[in-house]
Amino acid sequence: MAEETIFSKIIRKEIPADIVYQDDLVTAFRDISPRAPTHIVIIPNNLIPTVDDVTPEDEQVLGRLFTAASKIARAEGIAKDGYRLIVNCRRHGGQEVYHLHMHLLGGRPLGRMVAD
Ligand code: AMP
Repeated sequence: MAEETIFSKIIRKEIPADIVYQDDLVTAFRDISPRAPTHIVIIPNNLIPTVDDVTPEDEQVLGRLFTAASKIARAEGIAKDGYRLIVNCRRHGGQEVYHLHMHLLGGRPLGRMVAD
């Protein structure tokens, strides 16, 4: 059984976060340390630690991350200009919180995909 992170407490509203969207499968909130004018973290409500842990049973919730991202981007007014979705996996991916999450970044040109 994977260990819970601070994100599980955010889902259950046990600690404060600026939640912008929540449904039966996913929760989205503003990143505490934003890297772009819009920076929202979208997470499954169930704990999947990393992309390396996903199974076929997770396909519905993983798909919901994308439909939620699309909906939120439109609500944030960044859909027309575009945005970036990032999912980091483990150490080389730069993952800090081991509860799988998708970053939604936008509101300015984001430059190259990967730093040189
Ligand atoms: P990652 O490096 O992909 O694991 O991203 C984790 C993200 O979660 C970082 O961008 C953090 O700024 C963000 N984060 C960590 N704790 C919180 C929190 N309590 N509320 C909102 N965002 C958080």
